[in-house]
Amino acid sequence: MLQRSQCVVSAVDRIALCVAVANFRSTCPPKEPIAGNLLEEIPGLLRRQRRARQMSRSIEAVSASSALSFLHGVLVSLSVLAELFRGIATSLSGMQAPDWSQEERNLVLEAEEFKSMLKGVEVLRRILWRMGLAADIFLPVADGEAVLAEAGDLLARDANLLRDRYSRTGAYLSEARSAWAVVERGLAELNVELPRWDPEESFEAAGSSCQGAAGANSTAPLCSLCLLPALPPFTTGDAAVASLWKGSLCHVQCANFWTRHMQGAKILSDLGIVLQPFA
Ligand SMILES: [Zn+2]
Repeated sequence: MLQRSQCVVSAVDRIALCVAVANFRSTCPPKEPIAGNLLEEIPGLLRRQRRARQMSRSIEAVSASSALSFLHGVLVSLSVLAELFRGIATSLSGMQAPDWSQEERNLVLEAEEFKSMLKGVEVLRRILWRMGLAADIFLPVADGEAVLAEAGDLLARDANLLRDRYSRTGAYLSEARSAWAVVERGLAELNVELPRWDPEESFEAAGSSCQGAAGANSTAPLCSLCLLPALPPFTTGDAAVASLWKGSLCHVQCANFWTRHMQGAKILSDLGIVLQPFA
């Protein structure tokens, strides 16, 4: 995988891929014997192994295109998610204002418009999780930082671009997660519960309680936006189902998010970003 990333022509893409490969390596379970209680460690080790396998598939997919383009997609998604969550949090806190009576609040909570907003929030929660995983692959941590520091052949302009994109993506990830926490608190204060969902059990993470389970997950095509496994089009009853959009396969939820919120986002013109893969 490292050899392939070193063959990538664009210096920025090559370094971005090398950082991802370093992140992948630090996710792989250690080769040396476990010092602690093996039985206790096994579930965590299996999770790491599953995640490392998934990261390797995502990196493989990106190496055929452009790591920087993908990083741009993650950056824009997270920036848009942060803004959306902030807007939702403001609406929810408005409902808690002292001039609202409980009767008025109940009327809104029962309204179809509010219920449909909640369905949207549920989808955004899942997209935040997906894009958080994508950011974990490409944002330099520990070994990835070392790769970046040693990238001596990178022009100063390219190095600055890459550092800027990493810093913005990291900041937007924190903002989006913080804003999501405020949304969760706002919902709890209104006694509104979203359907329970365990990310580890979802198809994208090869969870066992979903359709297809682990075997199908390891060979399933990847979504072009989040690079996580997707179920074939027309599969019913699972949020990980894909569709074809402009010749690329992606989760239906990711495609809708793209068309509704990303393609017209102001940050694109602010940063001069042309998004792939659906530009
Ligand atoms: Zn997706």
